[in-house]
Amino acid sequence: MSDQKSYGFTTTIVHNDRRKGIEHGSLHKPVHTSVAFGYADARQLASVFQGKEPGFRYGRQGNPTIAALEDKVNQMEQGVGTICFATGMGAIGAVFQALLRAGDHVVSSSFLFGNTNSLWQTTMAQGVGVSFVDATDVANVAAAITDQTRVVFVETIANPRTQVADLRRIGELCQARGILYVVDNTMTTPYLFRPKSVGAGLVVNALTKSIGGHGNALGGSVTDTGAYEWTRFPNIYENYKKAQPQQWGLAQLRAKALRDFGASLAPEAAHHIAVGAETLALRMERTSSNALALAQLLEGDERVAAVYYPGLASHPQHGTSSALFRAHGSLLSFELQDGIDCFDFLNRLTLAIPASNLGDTRTLIIPVAHTIFYEMGAERRASMGIAESLIRVSVGIEDEADLLEDFRCALAGS
Ligand SMILES: *Cc1c(COP(=O)(O)O)cnc(C)c1O
Repeated sequence: MSDQKSYGFTTTIVHNDRRKGIEHGSLHKPVHTSVAFGYADARQLASVFQGKEPGFRYGRQGNPTIAALEDKVNQMEQGVGTICFATGMGAIGAVFQALLRAGDHVVSSSFLFGNTNSLWQTTMAQGVGVSFVDATDVANVAAAITDQTRVVFVETIANPRTQVADLRRIGELCQARGILYVVDNTMTTPYLFRPKSVGAGLVVNALTKSIGGHGNALGGSVTDTGAYEWTRFPNIYENYKKAQPQQWGLAQLRAKALRDFGASLAPEAAHHIAVGAETLALRMERTSSNALALAQLLEGDERVAAVYYPGLASHPQHGTSSALFRAHGSLLSFELQDGIDCFDFLNRLTLAIPASNLGDTRTLIIPVAHTIFYEMGAERRASMGIAESLIRVSVGIEDEADLLEDFRCALAGS
């Protein structure tokens, strides 16, 4: 297994630990719970701390179980290096705290996961300017860029309305302007799409969602793809410029984002996520085909006013989605006709579960404006294209016929 590049996505992930000389022949990377790492020679401890030789220092900055998961995610994204965090928000928040300074400017897609939107409000209060744009068209991103713009941030398929960013052209724009391009790949996962292929410098994944995949562990990650030249980034501290420029970003992120903010992934969670990741490809194939079938069923029903799923020909970015992604993912959303109570509809479903979370094996369904997008208020929701009646579905791996029947019955009762 020396040349992993010749293996496919799943083979690589399933055999990745073994390639690294796993302890005791164990086929899963063991769960290391030790916070401290002892060295027989005190000089070696010092040299690990000084970065002169590899080794673990203290649990907050990583341990062997977490390192094994970091390596797997890195293989999936084909990056230079990956750092794991306690949650997806832990990753996104710490990365921006580590890389941005007061007076900097960010261009962000306005179509965002609700908590990322909330995070940007905090960042703005700390003196970073954020312009929100419709990132489905690169022209809007270009128009918002200023001399202070350090980062452009987009989600691949936006949660929950499924807008697809103009990923390739935004990558070209960022490359030309020397701006760091950060892509949240949670909805597509590295199985459906590698943001590196469109020039993203950093890729964020909420491991909680499809990569872990079973709704039993929180986690997040940031991957440096190697596509960004850190010599073009003005906010790297001198301390982190000692290594090759390709390592500057990771060095600063490991210290300033992970170490200083301390949103460290738990070893037990890393283990759950690593096991889940082995079946990512299988689950994405299944949930994507289930989601397409469900989107088609909903689109054909007169009680449904609108369906948003990039796999439908009626979706405005169907072409982009088809060109860039291996399949269209497990997330869809829809609006019922006026007069149909969305809560009554949800209560008629017997398989789909009213619950938050995405990328679970089970189908989860949630009335967006009343829950996850409640706090931001009606005006901001409207600017993000979120109707008050919008229902989000995270499609699971159930048998397609059972899932469709559940929705058919719930609609028939409307
Ligand atoms: C869930 C989610 C996050 C945050 O992940 P957590 O692990 O819940 O903190 C970030 N981005 C997107 C697109 C998400 O769906």
